Amino acid sequence: MGLIVQKYGGSSVADAEGLKRVAARIVATKKAGNQVVVVVSAMGDTTDELIDLANQVTPFPNGRELDMLLTAGERISMALLAMAISNLGHEARSFTGSQAGVLTTSAHGKARIIDVKPSRISEAISEGAIAIVAGFQGINQDTKDVTTLGRGGSDTTAVALAAALEADVCEIYTDVDGVYSADPRVVPTARKLKTVTYEEMLELAASGAKVLHLRCVEYARRYDMPIHVRSSFSNQEGTWVVKDHPEGDSGANMEQAIIAGIAHDKSEAKVTIVGVPDRTGVAARIFQTIADADINIDMIVQNVSAAATGLTDISFTLPKSEGAETTALLKGIQGEVGFASLQYDDQIGKLSLVGAGMRSHPGVTATFFACLSEAGINIEMISTSEIRISVICRVEDLEKGVKAAHSAFDLDAEGEAVIYGGSGR
Ligand code: ASP
Ligand code: MG
Repeated sequence: MGLIVQKYGGSSVADAEGLKRVAARIVATKKAGNQVVVVVSAMGDTTDELIDLANQVTPFPNGRELDMLLTAGERISMALLAMAISNLGHEARSFTGSQAGVLTTSAHGKARIIDVKPSRISEAISEGAIAIVAGFQGINQDTKDVTTLGRGGSDTTAVALAAALEADVCEIYTDVDGVYSADPRVVPTARKLKTVTYEEMLELAASGAKVLHLRCVEYARRYDMPIHVRSSFSNQEGTWVVKDHPEGDSGANMEQAIIAGIAHDKSEAKVTIVGVPDRTGVAARIFQTIADADINIDMIVQNVSAAATGLTDISFTLPKSEGAETTALLKGIQGEVGFASLQYDDQIGKLSLVGAGMRSHPGVTATFFACLSEAGINIEMISTSEIRISVICRVEDLEKGVKAAHSAFDLDAEGEAVIYGGSGR
């Protein structure tokens, strides 16, 4: 008994059958005596299809209009889901992000939630109805325009709402049974994690694990909101994302305690600025230019400058989607900064090993690099945090690297993970 926020992803509501199946699950949760708030994504690949459509009309869709278009996807699923629930004899009311009080910054396509004022949701559930909220969207109070939170943003809507409503748990329903030690689409023998800490999940999500949206995990950590990631296609217990691993959990399997999981990411590109004068302030000038455009960069490597020339090379990675803008910005300051040339490489992959146990176990890096070398994979860049090691390699070597690391750290499970739906798109 309590207040449960459930989020259903696009693959769980891909068609009318899916919507009916999800409706039945929601009703069962309600019948068990809970108040239920549901956040829903657009059906199947709707968001991708809408983006494709926009790109057929114009190569540069306007941000405001693109958000208007994309938010329609979640409106379709929320209304249909409310109808399916009502067909089962329970009252359901659907709300857009704006109606649900999701207030965001004005950055179209990547808005951040500033506040959630869910008075209409509280009202609906206190009157005994099930509230259905369109995920991934909100409204900016200054412009009064509808915004979206970035791809996969419905998870963040769900956790933000759960925090604002002081829910007992936020359940995220997806097309696999939980969070795995690697993407089960790449490593079929990936192991389902019983628990993963906010800290580990943040690193996994930031390193390309698509099972949870990064900002949803940040939110959960800030409000200490437990997330239960599970499948809408089975009744299995999923993975709990929580503050700490429960006592004893780590003792059961030492190896698992060291490495929680392996993430991979094909969405980044590498920019190399060749022949940069090695002077104070130059790096600041370069990265300020990029920051001013609100572009997030990831890894940075600066070579030792050649003594004879006083020139160095700086490489960094960033989302491919920001590549064109970034190279244009850098060309704009080439004269002023005085670098020789720019190289752009979008055929890279990032492979990351994550686990809180790394802190206290030496040798993880050595094992990791040895297994990559045995697999014949060349490492181009390296970055680390206390609980993560990431490397950049050729994109065509990436999946091979994931598999090699997964077995090098003994993460394989007995059986194969089940993938219930979704195109993985
Ligand atoms: N429908 C949006 C997307 O596909 C949001 C989400 O699924 O979370 O990115
Ligand atoms: Mg989605």
